[in-house]
Amino acid sequence: MKYSELCNVYEALSKTSKRLEKVDILSDFLKKLAKSKGDNKWIYLIRGRVLPDYDAREFGISRQLIIKIISKASGVSSDQITKDFNKIGDLGQVAENLMAKKKQHTLYHSSLNVEKVFTNLKKIFEMEGKGSVDKKVSLVAELLVNANGLEAKYLIRTVLNDLRIGVADSTLRESIAEAFFPDERKEVLNKIEEVYDLANDFAQIFEAAIKGKKAFDEIEIIPGKAMNVMLPVKVTEISEAFRMCGKPAAIEHKYDGFRVVISKNKNGNVKLFTRRLEDVTNQFPDVVSVAGKNIKAESFIVDSEVVGYDPKTKKYKPFESISQRIKRKYHIEKLIDELPVEINAFDVIYLNGKSLVNLPFIERRKHLEKIIKVEKLKVRTAEQIITDDEKKALEFYKNALKIGEEGIMVKNLDSIYKPGRRVGHMVKMKPSSRDFDLVIVGAMHGTGKRAGWLTSYIVACRNNKDSKDKFLEVGMVSSGLKEKESEGTTYKEMTKMLKPLITSEKGRIVRVKPKLVVSVTYQNIQKSPTYSSGYAMRFPRITVYRPDRNTSDIANISDIKKEAN
Ligand code: AMP
Repeated sequence: MKYSELCNVYEALSKTSKRLEKVDILSDFLKKLAKSKGDNKWIYLIRGRVLPDYDAREFGISRQLIIKIISKASGVSSDQITKDFNKIGDLGQVAENLMAKKKQHTLYHSSLNVEKVFTNLKKIFEMEGKGSVDKKVSLVAELLVNANGLEAKYLIRTVLNDLRIGVADSTLRESIAEAFFPDERKEVLNKIEEVYDLANDFAQIFEAAIKGKKAFDEIEIIPGKAMNVMLPVKVTEISEAFRMCGKPAAIEHKYDGFRVVISKNKNGNVKLFTRRLEDVTNQFPDVVSVAGKNIKAESFIVDSEVVGYDPKTKKYKPFESISQRIKRKYHIEKLIDELPVEINAFDVIYLNGKSLVNLPFIERRKHLEKIIKVEKLKVRTAEQIITDDEKKALEFYKNALKIGEEGIMVKNLDSIYKPGRRVGHMVKMKPSSRDFDLVIVGAMHGTGKRAGWLTSYIVACRNNKDSKDKFLEVGMVSSGLKEKESEGTTYKEMTKMLKPLITSEKGRIVRVKPKLVVSVTYQNIQKSPTYSSGYAMRFPRITVYRPDRNTSDIANISDIKKEAN
């Protein structure tokens, strides 16, 4: 298949904001792709990727490098390209203009095909170590010199992870249903959503859809892949928790660490994933070793909260203090001694070759207790009671807070494990604190001592429960980050993480892709016309950067409104 064919689809998608039109365009394309004898994995390109969603790795090619690549391919200086970019705010568009101009002179017909684009882009992920940057550059450059204007635009946007065609994963799922099951779209869409949460892989879903409805039943979770975890709904009263989860219910301590899905395949390979689907196996060799020894099963997927403790006093530490371990890629051994962690296992969803997602929670918990060999400060099962008594539940809650836990989780005993969903099978209850998880959508360059860094951050909440893509600004926060690395996340580190996410720049303000989540405390929230939410946080302060969270975890506009005065 010609790459230009795919680019025409991108272009058509970018020209409409209507969801149904997008579904039409995409389902036509999917039917063609199915017939094309190409690779099913090419479907990833529709969302600007070459990897399945369970593999969260990104191209990691900076904007600066892209400017160099465009310069090389077009023969225009980097300075000129930077100027164009500052004017237009989209390097893809800049590449289109330049390549279209160049190719006009040579009466150029592109020969790029999807296979070549996919293969080259995929190879980027194999490049590591010395000389890898140069190799990545040549892989992209080779494509760019052969691209026409439109292809150049979408190639560059793909590599920058900023396709701008407005296709959410839900739109793609809908399009698969529409393409292959037009007469039973709704019913099949439900099924697709269900199995997508298990597989996190559009190629697998696409392949099953081509084969027929029954093939969806063969999709199962398997160890070794990242998966979307089940998430709780928030409640404020015990009675509400019971109303949602039924009586009796399981009540557990809510630990203040970070979510880790631990999986071991039948070859004994242990892998660790965060709820953002990031592979953190290398950062936690201690957890790998404990899981390998103390979880007694041939293969498993165990859901857990990993909590840090002070190696001297043995007291548990809040998430903030172990967040460094998630980020650290080198010199890990020293950190393991300084910031040891304990696994608090609370669910098992795969065991000895079989998925347990459809077993009731109470049965899964029994399996969990059987396979975990508890060892102090290494691994334990989450503290749990089963009760229908509100008084007992409240006592358990108060005690959890007294010993420093975050609160409690209340879980429905009969519920199945629903990956990726806040379905109300489990709820969380914790004291309301003046703090929200928010996403950074913009930033401001610092001045004086802080020149060279982005030092103020525009933070946003989600627009509403169903909309994944829309964010509303609630304030600008400048304090909380550190200047010295030993004290926590620094302005310098945050700047380094934000720079590749910049989408446009105007004066001192940059806009960034909504990706980095921070917890922000504040004194109060007031109505304000300054920010797009209509509310502003007063005296906001970042308490901690949350590398383990993504935008589906952040506060909603309704949460913000509730706290406003
Ligand atoms: P929140 O992050 O406030 O939405 O709370 C949900 C998170 O609590 C989960 O994603 C887990 O990381 C964490 N957690 C702590 N203890 C438990 C537990 N016993 N069961 C389930 N989740 C827990």
